[in-house]
Amino acid sequence: MFSLRDTLANRPLPKGYNKGMGILVLCGNRPVSITCLRNSSCPESFVVHFKSVIPIDSWVDKCINQSLIAMQRLFAKGNIAVLRGTTEDLSDDPNTQSLQDLYIGAQGNTKDVDTLIGYQNYVGYDDVIIYIVKKITMAPTALGDSPDGTTIEQINGAAVIAKDDPWVIPHEIGHILGLPHIYYDPKRLMFPTSSEARWTNWEIDPLVLSTDEYLDMKNSGITKSC
Ligand SMILES: [Zn+2]
Repeated sequence: MFSLRDTLANRPLPKGYNKGMGILVLCGNRPVSITCLRNSSCPESFVVHFKSVIPIDSWVDKCINQSLIAMQRLFAKGNIAVLRGTTEDLSDDPNTQSLQDLYIGAQGNTKDVDTLIGYQNYVGYDDVIIYIVKKITMAPTALGDSPDGTTIEQINGAAVIAKDDPWVIPHEIGHILGLPHIYYDPKRLMFPTSSEARWTNWEIDPLVLSTDEYLDMKNSGITKSC
């Protein structure tokens, strides 16, 4: 039987975390995947941290939580537990002001990206980082995904905007875990285009991943076994 406590005990906890902070700090208020994974003998897991250069108000908080729940449910269907790491508000740091409108250059590289990925407090080896910005502007030939979100090649990370679409973050993490786009079915997580129809009923009609995609994610080297 899957035990969250045992899983956490077997992997390095995020820097800055101590047991007194409780399990909710790591997993969020609704660790929905835990219920789904209870019957799994040995699920894979990874930790995701959120770092925001815009103030984490109730809207940003809602976007993070919805994305996490959607992702925990979807990934749990493939025996992958998504563990919440730390959430850091970087908006008071004057050096992050220019990163709110993040510019991605031709090769995915810019001074903005270099500065952004310098913020890795509390992030453990192989952990995933989601940076939340106000706007993403990409050079015409940039290798990025979309103005809603794009992976950052240098790290296990992505930059996203806060948006009422809980699939943007799971989609980018799908890329981080090695998945390419799927172009023929808008019901698939890795379909490249976001649309309102995809997210309005996200709870009752969630996007899907295939058996092969789950396998590729688990072979990415980023998830860890129990
Ligand atoms: Zn994509």
